[in-house]
Amino acid sequence: MDRQVKFTRLSRAVLEANYDWTIVRIDAAGGLYGLGEAYMGPGLTTILDELRPLVLGADAAQIEQIVRKLRGCTVHASPGVCFHAIAGIEAALWDLLGKAWRQPVWKLLGGQFRQRVRVYADCHAGDALDSMNAVLQSRTPFWTGARDNAPAAVSLKHHGWNPAETHFPPPDRYRTRAREMANRGFTALKFDADIPTPLPTDNYNRSLRREEIDFVLERLRAVRAEIGPGVDLAVDCHWNYATPDAIQLGRALGELDLLWLEDPVPPESVRQLRTVQNSVPMPIATGENHYLLTDFLRLLDEGGVRLLAPDIQKIGALDLKALSRLADAMATSLTIHNISGPIGTVFSAHVCATIPNFLALEWHGASVPFFDHLCGAPIDRGFIPLTDAPGLGITLNEDTARRYAKPGEEFF
Ligand SMILES: [Mg+2]
Repeated sequence: MDRQVKFTRLSRAVLEANYDWTIVRIDAAGGLYGLGEAYMGPGLTTILDELRPLVLGADAAQIEQIVRKLRGCTVHASPGVCFHAIAGIEAALWDLLGKAWRQPVWKLLGGQFRQRVRVYADCHAGDALDSMNAVLQSRTPFWTGARDNAPAAVSLKHHGWNPAETHFPPPDRYRTRAREMANRGFTALKFDADIPTPLPTDNYNRSLRREEIDFVLERLRAVRAEIGPGVDLAVDCHWNYATPDAIQLGRALGELDLLWLEDPVPPESVRQLRTVQNSVPMPIATGENHYLLTDFLRLLDEGGVRLLAPDIQKIGALDLKALSRLADAMATSLTIHNISGPIGTVFSAHVCATIPNFLALEWHGASVPFFDHLCGAPIDRGFIPLTDAPGLGITLNEDTARRYAKPGEEFF
C-alpha cells in the first residue's frame, strides 16, 4: 500500500440550506477525493482560496502537521472563520485518507467506543424551515421559488426572529414538533427559550420579566407533557440574558428535569457562568463559540460548567479529541454542537464515536427537504450508525448538490 496520499486539488461548493453548507473537496491522484464541511462565516470561501496554495501537494497522512501549519499561518488573525476553513480542510483530509487506506474515519481516529451515535433534534421554536445567511439574517432560500430574497432583519435577543413578528409560537407548535421528533425515534430534543412574546419588552437589554419566563415555561411544559420522562429535553438561550435573569429562568425551568440549559449568558462571561451554574439545578452547557483549548479550560476551571458543547466544524477533530481528554480528566461530558449538513454531521458522528465522554450530537436538518437526499439518510431512529466503509462511508449526490448550490458561488 502506498502510504503517501499527495493531494492535487482543493475546491469547494456552498449549498443554500437552513444555513450555508460549505463543502470542501480535496482530490488526490488516482481519482480519489475527500469531503469535509466548514462552519459558515462571512468571508469563508475567500479564506479557503487563500489557504489553498499552502496545502496543495502535501501528504494527506500528515494531518496534524498540515493543521498546525495552517493555524500558524493564520495566527495573526483571530481564530474565528480561519478555524472554520481549517476544520473543513481537516475533515476532507480524514475522508480522503480513509478512502486511500480503506479504513473508516472512526478507526483512523483511534477506534470506537460506540457503533452508533446518539443524535438530538434541535426543534427551535417548533417552526418550519428557518434559514439564515452567514451573518444571521433571515432569508428565503432561492429554491423555494419565492420572488423576494431580500434578507429580513432579525432580533438577536429573540434568536432569529423578525422584530415585526406578530404571530407567536403557540404551545401546540412546540407540542406537535416534539411528538413528530419522538415518533421519529429521537431520544433527546432541544427547544429555544429566547422567543418573542406579545408582552412589552426591551429588545436590547438582557432582562427577563416573570411573565416572559411564564410564556416560555408554558410551551416547554407542553413539550414535557407530550414526550413524558423517557425523552430527554434541553433548552437553548443563545447567550441572551443577564446573570440574575438567567438564574430566575433556570430555577423556573427546574421542574422540567432538563438535560441541560444552554448558553444562558454571553459566552465570554466565564465567571458569570459559574454563578448561574451554582444557582440552578440543571447542568449549564456552553462552548459552541469557543475555539482554543485554553478557552475551554477556562470554562471548565473558572466557569465550572458541567457540560461542554464544542463544534467540530469549528475546532476540527484533532482538537476535539484533545478537548475530550481534558474534559474527561475533569469529569465532564461533551454534547456536540452541529448546524451542518449531512457531510459535517456524519463527520461529527465519526469523531463522537471515538471519545468516551460523549453525550449527544446536535441535528438541525429536520426542515431541510434535501437533507436525506444529498448523500443518503444518515440518521436512523435517532442514531447515526457507523460502518466499516472507507472514509466517511458516504457518497455525495452531485446532481442534488448542484440543484441547491448557492447562486454566485463556485461549485467544485
Ligand atoms: Mg446553541
